[in-house]
Amino acid sequence: MFYLKISDKDIFNSCISNTSPVNEPCSVCGASNLYSNYSSYQRTMITFSGGHREEIPVVIPRVRCHCGKTHALIPDNLIPYSSYSLRFILILLWKFSTRSCTVTQFCNKWCIAISTIYKWIHMFIKHYNLWFGAIDEIVSLKADSVNKIEMIDSLPREFFNRFRFSFMQNHPFATASPPTANSD
Ligand SMILES: [Zn+2]
Repeated sequence: MFYLKISDKDIFNSCISNTSPVNEPCSVCGASNLYSNYSSYQRTMITFSGGHREEIPVVIPRVRCHCGKTHALIPDNLIPYSSYSLRFILILLWKFSTRSCTVTQFCNKWCIAISTIYKWIHMFIKHYNLWFGAIDEIVSLKADSVNKIEMIDSLPREFFNRFRFSFMQNHPFATASPPTANSD
């Protein structure tokens, strides 16, 4: 089961306030310590709150390097290029693997397309196997596998550091995950 006590909104706020872009070199020129605050933009984070799907607006700060490149600073609990929080996806995958209703009923309940849940399952298996390697390879989605991933607090950051894309991110060559500078 999920033992996440902190909401995505709280994680998001603490990540943003602790984000120090000086720790992350520019992905274009490699310089560090040279960022200046540039701007911010608003996006929607779809998260799981009190047993329900919830959409909350979040503000993503953007910094500019001396080379001119701007970088968005996206916290670990948000997946680059995705409106869904990592927590939302993992909880839904867990619920999907233990559901007693049909796929259509499940997707209607959570307002997601059927193709989306299958895309997530496929990506979860792929990224799970990347992380754990051949020793612990899985071929299908199981609640235990979701639990195993969820219990590793440092997974989003460590996964990104190893593979240079985020867990459950559908852009294999994009660089992002925070407070890593995300080129955009
Ligand atoms: Zn730069």
